Amino acid sequence: MTEPCLPGATLGILGGGQLGRMLGMAARSLGYGVVVWAGEANAPAAAVADQVLTQPHGDLDGTIELMRVCDRVTLEWENVPAETVAVLAEHLPCHPSAAVLRVTQDRLEERALVESLGIATAPARGVRGAEDLHAAWSSIGLPARLKTARGGYDGGGQWRIRTENDLGALPTMDGSTMYRWEKEIAFEREISVILARSTTGEVRVYPIFENEHQDGILRLTRCPARITPAVARVAESIARRIAEALQVVGTLTVECFVVGRKDGSHEVLVNELAPRVHNSGHLTIEACATSQFEQHIRAICGLPLGETTLRKPAAMVNLLGDRVRTHVKLTGVPEALGVPDAHLHVYGKHGVRPRRKLGHVTALGDTLEEAVARAEKAWGELGFSG
Ligand code: ATP
Ligand code: MG
Repeated sequence: MTEPCLPGATLGILGGGQLGRMLGMAARSLGYGVVVWAGEANAPAAAVADQVLTQPHGDLDGTIELMRVCDRVTLEWENVPAETVAVLAEHLPCHPSAAVLRVTQDRLEERALVESLGIATAPARGVRGAEDLHAAWSSIGLPARLKTARGGYDGGGQWRIRTENDLGALPTMDGSTMYRWEKEIAFEREISVILARSTTGEVRVYPIFENEHQDGILRLTRCPARITPAVARVAESIARRIAEALQVVGTLTVECFVVGRKDGSHEVLVNELAPRVHNSGHLTIEACATSQFEQHIRAICGLPLGETTLRKPAAMVNLLGDRVRTHVKLTGVPEALGVPDAHLHVYGKHGVRPRRKLGHVTALGDTLEEAVARAEKAWGELGFSG
């Protein structure tokens, strides 16, 4: 067994977004040095780093510099070149591994893994050209989603096909890009399971999160999810099996659809995996004994994992950009923070685009309804000017 990596050491984070910022804060608070490979100087995570690398991911000088200054490397964004992680891993521990990234960067690979474990997913087919498209359309039917196999996030690289008329809006298939045609699922709820698996193999699972998306992007998370204990057990066991199959180290998020059956029972379908901390886990900062960010650092450093107990029902609402602005001033902050047990996180992003995640609000309550009402109230107080 490898030795734990103790505070005083320096951790490298690939990616410079808000997940990296919150991971960096957790690492710093434990006493680690933080180097962020952000690819730009003023990324959200740069503010919490001792050193920022601005080269594009995959750059050789950046890779060498990271090796030179870090004791261990992790990531906040899984679409970094797996090859870079493979090269880094020859010199220092990198979690998650290049092998995990090769699976989770590709929806078709990811799905093959999930299916090989006998875990249900939405009916789907790989599509490269017009012929495949017709085959998928006739075998799976409508409504459907077409998703790029690689690189999509926050609903990007994804097309909704409700009727034949929507087929005209699909990208031209010249054979260079692989897609997945997927049946659109009439789910009852969307949930996510977040667990951490340490270098020692210890696993801890958070209570299940329930997620509401708007136009393909997360808007609201509730915890605990409004599901039966039986559904929670199934979801947890699915996530554990995937984590063991991947031998992932660090956080793993499994996004699922909960589908109601006619007899009142439920089926859990896996939508996608993320080998990292996740937007639906932000409320763990205030609501759980150990935040997902601290847990991830403990896991990759080989330290004992923390308790994942939910202290109180909680809800999180994302603050999304409404239109393109270069500077943005958040308004309504005193009013939002005047809401009982409401907490604000602002990511310090410089440019604003519609639907860009700029921050989030978490609120706790004695009941889930109270937590949601408080989070919505605080969110409603906030606005942007400038
Ligand atoms: P993320 O931001 O989680 O990385 P993503 O862009 O990778 O998202 P998905 O998670 O696949 O894409 O899809 C985003 C959202 O779109 C889902 O959370 C869900 O609300 C909806 N969605 C995706 N696929 C389906 C489906 N097959 N049936 C119904 N809804 C779907
Ligand atoms: Mg998703």
